[in-house]
Amino acid sequence: MLIENLRIKKNTNSTRVSVTLSYEKVGVKNFELYFEVNKQYSKFLSKSYDGFLAAVLIPSMGIPENIQINGAVDEAFLDNIDKLQKLIRPWEVSDSWHKKLNTIEIRTDQRQAKSSPKSLRIKKEKSSAMFFTAGVDSFYTMLNLQKDKKTNLKYLLSIIGYDIDIENKKLSKEFLNSLDGISKATGLRSIIVQTNYREFLNLFPVNSANEWEMCHGAGLAAAALIFRNLFGQVYINSSDSYITGAAYGTHPDMDPLWSNSSLKFIPYGSALSRIEKIKDIKDNLLVRKYLRVCWRNIGNQYNCSQCEKCLRTMLQLKIYGVLNKFEKFKHNIDESDFDSIDTSPKHRIYVWEYFLKHLGNDEGQLKESLRRYISRSYQEIFRKNNIYYKIIYLIKLIRISRWKKRYT
Ligand SMILES: [Zn+2]
Repeated sequence: MLIENLRIKKNTNSTRVSVTLSYEKVGVKNFELYFEVNKQYSKFLSKSYDGFLAAVLIPSMGIPENIQINGAVDEAFLDNIDKLQKLIRPWEVSDSWHKKLNTIEIRTDQRQAKSSPKSLRIKKEKSSAMFFTAGVDSFYTMLNLQKDKKTNLKYLLSIIGYDIDIENKKLSKEFLNSLDGISKATGLRSIIVQTNYREFLNLFPVNSANEWEMCHGAGLAAAALIFRNLFGQVYINSSDSYITGAAYGTHPDMDPLWSNSSLKFIPYGSALSRIEKIKDIKDNLLVRKYLRVCWRNIGNQYNCSQCEKCLRTMLQLKIYGVLNKFEKFKHNIDESDFDSIDTSPKHRIYVWEYFLKHLGNDEGQLKESLRRYISRSYQEIFRKNNIYYKIIYLIKLIRISRWKKRYT
């Protein structure tokens, strides 16, 4: 594949940095992949291809197709990309995708000289940014980084075009309003990046390493690597996969490898599961006002209150008795929604089992729906996995039937 023609174009209110991409094997020709920021950040846009290499790496490893870059890439970044390829190549990625990645060759016109090794350490004089979606992981990271002045957190980096479709003006506006409120309350500056990266991923055939579950960390890294000299480090929120070790787009071993010689990526919050994080942030008033976990966006709602992720969050808030304090969720859980949501992947099923154990005794009907859902998830995992996993899940299914006896 070929990446070329990096250009920075100023519009009335925004500035766009973009490249032209072509893939031989999947018949993509001259696709413009872009990232766009408010014009006040124009002077901080990098002329290096680092961000674009991060964006295309994993889909290219999936095809596989070597990468030719007609431009400059940071040398320290290329070294890290070598390590990253070695790390993720053997991963079995997600329940639905068993295809392995391939090592590919990356050729560049120019390698920008590495600065001294010191440059990869945290630069105390520079400020920090963090990725911010107004979700559980984001709020946990923000609230805790703000308590630690040494981190010098200054920017919240949010992306339109990932969880929220770039064409969805209504939801984008509501999200931007929330960011405004959070920014005013915390004193942190909100930077919005708009991108068509997901449109790029959709160019690939299904099951060819283009899945969002696997590529979203690269998409985040790319959106930060387009900047230079604005912040010295970026915090990546850990996700549940940090606890379960599942192959996923963000991962404690992978995240730091997106660093180049002027920007360091730091995973944050990896010691805690999402259950523990919700417990930590549930009493904060900003969280209660603005928490957004939904990515299904059913009915174009800020939180649809009926998808797997919304229900998972709402159940835990209900267990703590605070669901009715959260402004952007429905305050009642509709039990019938559990019959229509996606089944749980194997690395997350422990969360639902935890809820089943902790719901109050007066929640018989809810527990029954939950038990049905867990059972359905195990059946799906059983169907997809090899004999070793099948034995484990058979044992789990027996446990579910015991729960049934206990709760009904
Ligand atoms: Zn939802």
